[in-house]
Amino acid sequence: MGKCPFCGSLIVELEYSATEFVRGGFTVRDGVGEYYGIESVDVDDQEYRCPVCGSIVARCESDARKVLLEGCS
Ligand SMILES: [Zn+2]
Repeated sequence: MGKCPFCGSLIVELEYSATEFVRGGFTVRDGVGEYYGIESVDVDDQEYRCPVCGSIVARCESDARKVLLEGCS
């Protein structure tokens, strides 16, 4: 369990959001657009937020792991 460095709450998980760049195919089948073979090619603007106060506590997975496993003071 970690500790939010901003509000001090004990936290076991973080809220994750990011901008993901994907690539794949697109076609129209029976008048309906359809994507296929979508794969992630890059991730940017990663944010790991405290679920209690909403503050960003990390911007990469390794820092997020530290917050949850070691906590911050
Ligand atoms: Zn917090």
